[in-house]
Amino acid sequence: MSLAAPAFALDVEALRRDFPILSKPVHGDVPLVYLDNGASTQRPRQVIEAIVDVYENDYANVHRGIHWLSDRVTDRYEAARAKVQRFLNAAAPEEIIFVRGTTEAINLVARSWGDANCRAGDEIVLSEMEHHANLVPWQQLSERTGAVLRHIRITDDGQIDLASLDAVLGPKTKLVAVTAVSNVLGTINPVAEIARRAHAVGALLLVDAAQAAPHVAIDVQAWDADFMAFSGHKLLGPSGIGVLYGRAALLDAMPPFMGGGSMIRRVHLDRFEPADLPAKFEAGTPAIAPAIGLGAAIDYFEHLGRGLRPAAAALGIKRGDLALAMQAVHEHELRLTRQAHTLLSDLGGVRFLGPQPELKSGIVSFTLEGVHAHDIAQLLDRHGVAIRAGHHCTMPLHKRLGIGASARASFYLYNTPAEVEKLAEALADTKRVLRRGGQ
Ligand code: PMP
Repeated sequence: MSLAAPAFALDVEALRRDFPILSKPVHGDVPLVYLDNGASTQRPRQVIEAIVDVYENDYANVHRGIHWLSDRVTDRYEAARAKVQRFLNAAAPEEIIFVRGTTEAINLVARSWGDANCRAGDEIVLSEMEHHANLVPWQQLSERTGAVLRHIRITDDGQIDLASLDAVLGPKTKLVAVTAVSNVLGTINPVAEIARRAHAVGALLLVDAAQAAPHVAIDVQAWDADFMAFSGHKLLGPSGIGVLYGRAALLDAMPPFMGGGSMIRRVHLDRFEPADLPAKFEAGTPAIAPAIGLGAAIDYFEHLGRGLRPAAAALGIKRGDLALAMQAVHEHELRLTRQAHTLLSDLGGVRFLGPQPELKSGIVSFTLEGVHAHDIAQLLDRHGVAIRAGHHCTMPLHKRLGIGASARASFYLYNTPAEVEKLAEALADTKRVLRRGGQ
């Protein structure tokens, strides 16, 4: 028996076998190197099987029928909500609203809370690094109400400038809406500190956690967030499902977003009384199987965390299984990010967007001197390397950085150091091809 303590690290080769798509070649016979996880992740067999299982064994509508199947599927749907509650460390299950994704969650808050609470001259504070999903709904709110948008500046290396936050906060600030992790820069923002400063002026804090929830341990109570949003498809779960978290007292006071079935207590011909939380915000038939699939994704992380317990105990780390898993995911991505920075720097002509790896989640966005990002992505694709190119739904951020587009490699728990080497080799080849083409 070995006396060496087990390493606190994911067994990446083993977990890769859970993801059927990762072993399927692209372009006929080219091995896939999937580095587009910021756009959407892949699903493990356990999530795919959970979805198949619902449809094969337990499918009916939820919360409606007084029959066996409906009861069973309702239990599974509500169990998924309880899993999300644990994943976020929310105080109660009714604070978890199932929506289609981050975009819908932010629109819900802007429409429901925003229309009820914002008047002309009130201020909403956003940052320069926001995704369009956390810009446009507030611009639309501003068009409807006359609320004024103010923006926190970012530093040249892509961090929130806290002095600029203080400069835009004031008695008129109603809400601060910021991303926890930038989908381009990778920056992990100091959410708890931003919450403290927002609350000090009486404003609320909404956190866009689309890129944070899949990659770092989330605790909405430690953050002291009032609202937060994330999407299932970036977290090993299905597309078409996401979550709005809101403090119960706030959600209780907000009017419903959409009207229809399930969100009512009583309906008369000329008026209605809304249902209690969370049903008030879940009008119509929800995404039943996707919600259960999201629950299975959270189970998957929990299972990874259980496997890490002995190593954590040997190191004196005392955290729950979910937090252990997310810590290991983050540390794994950090190793890959460091490796990518080193290998890509060696190629020459690469400009990285955002701060040093230690301040980032697993996102490496860059430009290559004299080459358009779309050409990079297209040529890398020939090598089976899937990355994203363009403005990544952050046009104002790209303008702030003085560029029109960038290339982005984004890592997840199943990516390997060998894949990062492949990225660097493919990029070196891209440079060679383009140099030849330019002659
Ligand atoms: N915010 C951020 C930071 C994102 O990266 C994304 C997805 N790219 C979104 C919001 C929108 O998420 P969805 O498309 O799943 O609604």
